[in-house]
Amino acid sequence: MIVAAPTIKKVFSSILILIGRLSQRRGIPVLLYHSVDSTGSVVSITPEEFRAQMAYLNATGYKTISLTDFLGYLHSGTVPREQMVVLTFDDGLKNNYTEAFPILREYGFAATIFLATDYIDRVCSWEKHDSIPRFPLLSWDEIREMSDYGIDFESHTCSHPYLNRLTRKEMRNELLGSKMVIETALNKPVTFFCHPYGNSSRETQESALECGYVGAFGGLDYGLTNTKENLYDLTRVGTQRFTSLEDFKAGLLGTYDFYITLRWLMAMLLNKGDKDKKFMKRGEYLKIR
Ligand SMILES: [Zn+2]
Repeated sequence: MIVAAPTIKKVFSSILILIGRLSQRRGIPVLLYHSVDSTGSVVSITPEEFRAQMAYLNATGYKTISLTDFLGYLHSGTVPREQMVVLTFDDGLKNNYTEAFPILREYGFAATIFLATDYIDRVCSWEKHDSIPRFPLLSWDEIREMSDYGIDFESHTCSHPYLNRLTRKEMRNELLGSKMVIETALNKPVTFFCHPYGNSSRETQESALECGYVGAFGGLDYGLTNTKENLYDLTRVGTQRFTSLEDFKAGLLGTYDFYITLRWLMAMLLNKGDKDKKFMKRGEYLKIR
């Protein structure tokens, strides 16, 4: 009997969700978003997908927490009984205000946006993937409005450089300068930092510590973030590769890696004209990590 690919997919997905729940993997998912738009770029998810993901979190009782609360859990070593998630956005794109913010506000969700301060109210023209348009970035008025609501703003440097190409002094200028600009504008402490391009090293992590940050995010991973991680090279779950709500559910449970490998194997075995096939080319998958 030939079983249809979507049926197998659903079965795999259910098994993985069950494994995730049963294994009680310790930690909290920290989700990474960039752009909420319909261009299909490698850093984009559509407003419809974003809404469906937030609706899922709301319907299943997830609590969105701030990075400060998240760090509190990491320090205490306790595992929250409630289902919790941290929502983060890199770069400070204007569509975080026009598309994501109304949805976050509708559900009363917390989130953190990492700003590259030299680019506020400009367009993103730093070194980037060819498929990424020159998206406009947030203005200070938009940032202030979101900050008043409770969205946190943290540092993503001043000029969005590859930090490891800089001298130690230049690194510090990027880390201190961006921290100072945001703190002055919003009158709130800036305590987290996020490495542009995930370009983290011992030097960048030491600089973040020296510049007064209590934690920093590095590259992507698809597991949950827990106490075993280096606080200055914390990992996040990248959401822009998710092609369905099933992917999102696996991401929340920390089983996405396992799930996507199985899906890739399945696509190879079935050799069907599946719409996920391009995405599931193993090389592509590894390249984006
Ligand atoms: Zn960035």
